[in-house]
Amino acid sequence: MSSPELLYEGKAKKIFRLAGEPDHVLMEFKDSLTAFNALKKGSFDSKGPVNRDIASLIFAFLRGRGVDSHWVRDEGERGMVARRVEIIPLEVVVRNVLAGSTAKKLGLEEGRVLPRPLVEFYFKNDELQDPFVSDDQIEILGIASAADLAELKKQALRVNEGLKDLFHRAGLRLVDFKIEFGRDKAGKILLADEITPDCCRLWDEKTNEKMDKDRFRRDLGQVKESYEQVLQRLRQIGGGK
Ligand code: UDP
Repeated sequence: MSSPELLYEGKAKKIFRLAGEPDHVLMEFKDSLTAFNALKKGSFDSKGPVNRDIASLIFAFLRGRGVDSHWVRDEGERGMVARRVEIIPLEVVVRNVLAGSTAKKLGLEEGRVLPRPLVEFYFKNDELQDPFVSDDQIEILGIASAADLAELKKQALRVNEGLKDLFHRAGLRLVDFKIEFGRDKAGKILLADEITPDCCRLWDEKTNEKMDKDRFRRDLGQVKESYEQVLQRLRQIGGGK
């Protein structure tokens, strides 16, 4: 049997062509961990399987809440079969609480609760280090139309409502997160990529302990244990069903 054709390798995932399923791809979750545009690199052995499990549990939960995604099924311990989409080159960030570089940029303390969820767009481009882009810049540069942006915001806010609720039941506060969307063959916009502690900020509701990639970014230790703890808690609440 020939090995599957690698279509793309990113920082945390490999994407393979799937024989006999032209409208699907196989995503393989890697054990690597990167931060600051891959200037900082690390890994831990259970990371791929843990993130795959968290991502599919979340996609299944969101589907039950009316948010469709590219997720089709799990395969093996670190694989996920997903609908083939063309990724819209925008990182859609939703914030409930100010943290990280944004708190710093605005001169406000990390932990300030926002009066309502804030949706922001960043242009997905490693060379430019994913700059912030305004709605007008996105439209004028032809990255997405005004109607697409409205749809992305609507879906992002719906994801936020679902995830806030899910993580709250797991004793975790959803501070912020980044998601990506793609278009399927018919042009339908679908939630894609992944939702894992790599792209969310999650703080323990009781201790305020960080349970996400900031443990790696800021050298706080217990990275593997925190990711495993997030999965364990999500499983304990029955995947949110
Ligand atoms: N994020 C991400 N990938 C990126 C940038 C941000 O997954 O390339 C996530 C990050 O983990 C956080 C949220 O998006 O949960 C908001 O990140 P922010 O813009 O505050 O960036 P940072 O403070 O890390 O520079």
